[in-house]
Amino acid sequence: MSKRPAPPTDLAVPSRAGARAEQLSLLGPGDIKPEVVAAVQLSLLGHPVPVRLPAELWHSWFATPAVVARFEAKRYIRRDEQCWPWLGAVSDTGHGSFRAASLPGASRRGTVPAHLFAYQLVHGVIPRLGWSGAEDPVVCHRCDSHGCVSPHHLRLGTAAENRSEWAYRHRDPAGPLADVRGPAGRTRAIARAVRIGMARGESTGLIDDRVRAAELDGLPLTLW
Ligand SMILES: [Zn+2]
Repeated sequence: MSKRPAPPTDLAVPSRAGARAEQLSLLGPGDIKPEVVAAVQLSLLGHPVPVRLPAELWHSWFATPAVVARFEAKRYIRRDEQCWPWLGAVSDTGHGSFRAASLPGASRRGTVPAHLFAYQLVHGVIPRLGWSGAEDPVVCHRCDSHGCVSPHHLRLGTAAENRSEWAYRHRDPAGPLADVRGPAGRTRAIARAVRIGMARGESTGLIDDRVRAAELDGLPLTLW
């Protein structure tokens, strides 16, 4: 679930993306030809200012074992039906943040939403991901847990679908969207539970119990 993104304001791209990407930095959305658009995607960093990343950057990260290994080190993998908690940095929206690269320029460039990394790591780079905020695909959580980075719980949808699902499901008092800690508090609490269990060398079953307790901790009290 994501709020509707604001219009892109940062078209600058890192120098390592090459001269073609440098040209893109001078263009507005209406100036970009379709074949060029396919090489760029809009990535939301968990705040209202989207940053566009060249597709070739995503490709280069997925092709670099050290980058993928750093990602995997922050993802707690469980069974397919379970959420896979993100253990790294968390954005204000409760999504994981993964620093795929430290790039020059504006702060946080090279830091991407962990669930976008998780989805595209399996399915490949998605052209026009999050581009328009209307009809172009966005990555949605089936499980409503923003901190979940399981590819089994992620699907492509539109921003409109994502909003209507949120409007419908956030009223469920037993659902993740009702968490009184907010999505970021929920993500952090679950990650903390996993890290404590891992630090103590606990079994997966005990860590599952910790995660479940952390999830329930944030649900509003049911009076009767
Ligand atoms: Zn999940």
